[in-house]
Amino acid sequence: MRIVFIGPPGAGKGTQAEKIVAAYGLAHLSTGDMLRAARDARTELGLKADQYMSRGQLVPDQVIIDLIHERLQRPDCRGGYLLDGFPRTIAQAEALDHLLAGRNTPLDVVLELQVPGEELFRRLAGRGRADDTPEVIRQRLVAYNQQTEPLLDYYGRRGLLQTIDGLGTVDEIFARIRAALNPLAR
Ligand code: ADP
Repeated sequence: MRIVFIGPPGAGKGTQAEKIVAAYGLAHLSTGDMLRAARDARTELGLKADQYMSRGQLVPDQVIIDLIHERLQRPDCRGGYLLDGFPRTIAQAEALDHLLAGRNTPLDVVLELQVPGEELFRRLAGRGRADDTPEVIRQRLVAYNQQTEPLLDYYGRRGLLQTIDGLGTVDEIFARIRAALNPLAR
């Protein structure tokens, strides 16, 4: 299966992503994790990306598109993958469509993990990652609303979107995800 996983910061996407890839045997492609690894390794790309990440802003599209283009060519992606944190803009979604059309490997589904705004801020404020200061959190939520939310419409029009209620226990939410994915699994 080829899945795009969309949700605002604090929705619990990382937790559910781990469970999905384990249950369905998928490669986990998290652009946030890739960028943090590049930053910690102090590569040129990582240091450049950090200038945006530390402010809660999105890294420029072309940087991310190149990263994903390279990653999708690795053999572990042949058995299917979960894209976590990508695409995050319409330009990224269009670039992904273009990449996948060229390989004749369309997406199977786009999962949206939906959590109300007040709940997100509450969860994020309790998390304590280095980019989790109140101002950076606010900025990340703004970036989501302005740049990523339009993707819901983009994928909705293509009939790919399935919205998952992100309130409840980890197991309850995962059961909802399984119910959405099982009919597509092969
Ligand atoms: P969050 O915890 O907000 O869900 P991630 O861990 O996915 O965020 O990503 C952390 C940061 O990395 C983002 O705030 C952004 O600066 C950068 N980033 C990750 N993925 C992308 C992307 N697809 N496009 C642009 N920037 C990205």
